Amino acid sequence: MTVPSSTPQFGARPGVVTRFAPSPNGMLHLGHAYSAIVAHDLAVQSGGRFLLRVEDIDGARSRPELVDEFRADLGWLGLAWKEVAPQSARLASYDAAADRLRAMGLLYPCTCTRAQLSAAEQHKGPMGSIYPGTCRRSPPGYASGAGVQWRLDTGEALARTGPLLWEDAIAGVQQARPDLLGDVVLMRKDAPASYHLAVTLDDATDGVTLVTRGRDLFAAMHVHRLLQALLELPVPRWHHHPLLVDECGDKLAKRRGSPALADRREAGEDGASLAEALRRHAFPAGISLQSS
Ligand code: GLU
Ligand code: ZN
Repeated sequence: MTVPSSTPQFGARPGVVTRFAPSPNGMLHLGHAYSAIVAHDLAVQSGGRFLLRVEDIDGARSRPELVDEFRADLGWLGLAWKEVAPQSARLASYDAAADRLRAMGLLYPCTCTRAQLSAAEQHKGPMGSIYPGTCRRSPPGYASGAGVQWRLDTGEALARTGPLLWEDAIAGVQQARPDLLGDVVLMRKDAPASYHLAVTLDDATDGVTLVTRGRDLFAAMHVHRLLQALLELPVPRWHHHPLLVDECGDKLAKRRGSPALADRREAGEDGASLAEALRRHAFPAGISLQSS
């Protein structure tokens, strides 16, 4: 079976569609505000549209009550958006895509536990350890049902699509190197779908033409571009912006206690002024944009 490889049409496109896609597993902080503003402004400046999509399929970590806080935060910053369906309303599309990849012979079941994987010799990739491929060599049908996760046979998939390109607005045209991430999980055992599969499908469904996000997720695009080719999805452009970091150069993170936007909002700070300051890169003391 050959997979048609679509060639992205590089170049300016008026009216870009961007999105902000927060996961409700913690409050939004300044890094999220910056990311949302980048996405919002790129859409508005081009006469396009800015979408909000809630990425709420992270099972136990998902706290639906935070979504109202997110909306309040974005409104407080002075942004306007159109909200699209949350990921929890899209599970059928994830299943259908997984079925399609399975029928193409590109997904295989994996029963490895976290403990087994950390005991195994694993190479590090740009987004964590690379799966050593243990279950890829198991006979077909050796596992199914609950407790099984499904991995993409990345080498085989790339062999079928042939070389793929993608374009980042800042970093330029890139050759997709999904081999750097290895056989990623697409269907998790503890959640309906992986980040990679869900976000790739959702961006296509929502007509997103410029995917904006922090540079920490840059390498994920190698896999997303491969999925787009396999599933014959339109290919957007990407804009990976630098992250906001603290004095130690660490990225702002909820778990490190960066002040939540909601706290600033409730303390009476003016959100529109904060947004203006972030646009001018006039960051609060100790915070800066990561240089590389
Ligand atoms: N839901 C992801 C997060 O909160 C963002 C995903 C993306 O922008 O692709 O980190
Ligand atoms: Zn395995």
